[in-house]
Amino acid sequence: MNELPLMPVRRLHNYLYCPRLFYLQWVEELFVENADTASGSALHKRVDAPSHGVEAIELDEREKLRSVSLSSEILKITGKIDLLETRDNQKTLLDYKRGSPSVDDLGNESAKDNDAMQLTAYALLLEEHGIQVDNAAIYYAAVKKRISVAIDTALKERCIQFIKEALEIAAKGKCPPSLENDSRCFSCSAYPVCLPNESSFWAGQLPEIPKHTQAPRPPLDHGEIIIVQNNAAYVGRKGGEITVSLEKEIVTRHPIEQIQAIYLYGTPQVSTQALQSLMEKNIPVSHFSAAGRFLGMTSGLPTSGVDARMGQYRIFSESAHRLIPAREIIRCKINNQRVMLMRNGDVPDGILKQLATLRDSTAEASDMDQLRGLEGMAANLYFAHFVTMLKGSAFETFDFEGRNRRPPKDPINCLLSMAYSILSKELTGFLSTVGLDPFLGFMHQPRYGRAALALDMMEEFRPLVADSVVLSLLNRGEITKTDFAYTSQGVMLNDAGRRAFWNAWARRLDAELTHPQFDYKISYRRTFDVQCRQLWRFCRGEAARYYGITTR
Ligand code: SF4
Repeated sequence: MNELPLMPVRRLHNYLYCPRLFYLQWVEELFVENADTASGSALHKRVDAPSHGVEAIELDEREKLRSVSLSSEILKITGKIDLLETRDNQKTLLDYKRGSPSVDDLGNESAKDNDAMQLTAYALLLEEHGIQVDNAAIYYAAVKKRISVAIDTALKERCIQFIKEALEIAAKGKCPPSLENDSRCFSCSAYPVCLPNESSFWAGQLPEIPKHTQAPRPPLDHGEIIIVQNNAAYVGRKGGEITVSLEKEIVTRHPIEQIQAIYLYGTPQVSTQALQSLMEKNIPVSHFSAAGRFLGMTSGLPTSGVDARMGQYRIFSESAHRLIPAREIIRCKINNQRVMLMRNGDVPDGILKQLATLRDSTAEASDMDQLRGLEGMAANLYFAHFVTMLKGSAFETFDFEGRNRRPPKDPINCLLSMAYSILSKELTGFLSTVGLDPFLGFMHQPRYGRAALALDMMEEFRPLVADSVVLSLLNRGEITKTDFAYTSQGVMLNDAGRRAFWNAWARRLDAELTHPQFDYKISYRRTFDVQCRQLWRFCRGEAARYYGITTR
């Protein structure tokens, strides 16, 4: 058995709702705040006074004692009791819940099972410290009612049994399977990281591809992206807000809860307080050079354990194993390049056929060199016809004679380089969040400072996201030659150009595609998260293969 810390009693509540939820939240520490959990936390903040130990109860000098912290080495649990009331020598244990009690057919109200079990665990903790509870109740905030719970021997025995079961599951170190087509999933806060139907499909447990309409809801899908590109700007924190100041005057304020990411260009200053608050909330701050090169990211620690990373290292060391996701990623990349040319370009059928042949040949690639060869041939064909996707004045104004970089020598290459750089940054963030090492790739060789796995993962998205943003900027006339700075260091976007770029980027990430396996509409931003979570499962041995993203 793995060595485990004491289990917080509130996790018993999770276990009774769903063993997988318990495992994700306690063992893997994957916690996603949704509206329900946020209002539950807010309720507890209101009822929680500074915490007390058992010695405060022994003093017995107050009628109401809030937030009593207790633990038991025998039961292996720990918990914080909301309220212990003493009146007429009777001790009443009270727990606060945000929702409503259960109501039977006759309209009788009773405490929900998992709420009663949590209350029983608190009573057991008190008992072990020599305090007998005379009465116990749950206060349901939604209906503003106290519902009594009779804590008898049978309830205590069941509670002890559930605690044992939960601890055994945690000690096994293997995430329990997801529930199947269960209504609990749709009000579960862990849905975005659990991905119940998707996980069952990836694990080969669902014989048919589930066709359902609810797209997974990754955390931080909505929220502001703050872009700061003035070297004189100062990013600070004031209360629960992130502020951006110029010459000591606050120019914008952003509630932290509503921020999705912060991008800094050049050398604006950021306070330690702001950085710490952002890290606590797992909101990444990305740093770019003034020319738009991605330099790195400040973010909180990844929440996942090491098993996915260990799996990743194992796959990396077995060339046949890492060829599995690599083949699929390159198949999808070539497919998507072909779709881009088919939809937007003017390309002879023969070229599309060649691309289809290269795409299908990826399945037979026997090693990484062969696969890279196919990828290279497809890229040559694609970029040789890229210019046919330029429309109207963009075609007249901008020249493109193939890819060049470091530094880009023309506006289109400048835009493509910037788009690829941002795409790799986005995927670095998602990979890191799910608990993979973004620097150890399956196709791209490890090199100091290179996020090789992010480069692998971005391949299938290059045409659909990065190239699409560039073409949209040019073909809609949202960017012109005046939006670039032409220097001896190459061509780079100026401030106005970068603003236009970010608008187009956000628009693309919010755009939806039909998921090729699950058939629901999903935004590109969500897709990044889902793909990284799928790869995470593959690395942990919970998925037999990796499915890439393609469009038709
Ligand atoms: S989404 Fe469903 S399977 Fe996953 S943790 Fe929640 S209730 Fe359990």
